[in-house]
Amino acid sequence: MDREKVISVKNLTKNYGSFEAVKGISFDVYKGEVFGLLGPNGAGKSTTLEIIETLRKKSGGEVWVDGYNIDQDADKIKKVIGVQLQTSGFYPGLNLTELIELFSGLYNQPVDAKELLQLVNLVDKSRSKYKELSGGQKQRFSIATTLINKPRIIFLDEPTTGLDPQARRNLWDLIRDIRSKGTTVIITTHYMDEAEILCDRVAIIDQGRIIALKSPDQLIDELVASGFERPKEVKQANLEDVFIHLTGHTLRSE
Ligand code: ADP
Ligand code: MG
Repeated sequence: MDREKVISVKNLTKNYGSFEAVKGISFDVYKGEVFGLLGPNGAGKSTTLEIIETLRKKSGGEVWVDGYNIDQDADKIKKVIGVQLQTSGFYPGLNLTELIELFSGLYNQPVDAKELLQLVNLVDKSRSKYKELSGGQKQRFSIATTLINKPRIIFLDEPTTGLDPQARRNLWDLIRDIRSKGTTVIITTHYMDEAEILCDRVAIIDQGRIIALKSPDQLIDELVASGFERPKEVKQANLEDVFIHLTGHTLRSE
């Protein structure tokens, strides 16, 4: 199987003073997959992501994005990627349609604001200001803004942290939608369930090192094949399932 590599990272290192935050990691990301960097706080996920996004300088190693080397062609890389902006970048006086039109002008990229808001299920909020949105809606809007320059790859750093279960599931649906249109997605998370459900492949990262890199199914199958057994019988559902079941009729209306 010949898959197109859209990101290639080789022996990437990052030191903050004498502290080694990223200790020589290597991975490839293929076109059209959702690739997860899964690990606890402080593992080095954001550092790695921001280096690939050209927002942070690496200490060592090599990075290619869409065929461009980060040392030579950072400007070209910026044109093919979509990065979630800090929320402080959203002008408070403008509504969602006006914000999209503003970014469209900044990127010099024509965009149909209504179509974009439809994709993230926010058409009914098109006249609302960003600060008037719920947490999940804010995240969906900020993901919409990553798509304005029609990127080949988007980067999402812990997009569901702090969201309620329904808002998280809505966001997973949105990310799958984006993947189905051919866009590659790189996401960081410390939620195991999220990585298992959403990611085609995950790199498990701990203390600046990748300790495993496979599909969630492969990782689980290998653990089971090694003789691992859960101490107790697995429940058929958990409390989150109960909650979603009880409130699920309002799915996508948080
Ligand atoms: P994660 O996103 O996985 O939580 P980070 O990449 O943010 O991890 O951080 C990795 C490690 O590097 C942490 O120990 C963090 O404290 C440290 N770190 C991150 N940014 C800086 C910085 N600008 N200066 C010094 N140390 C930093
Ligand atoms: Mg982080």
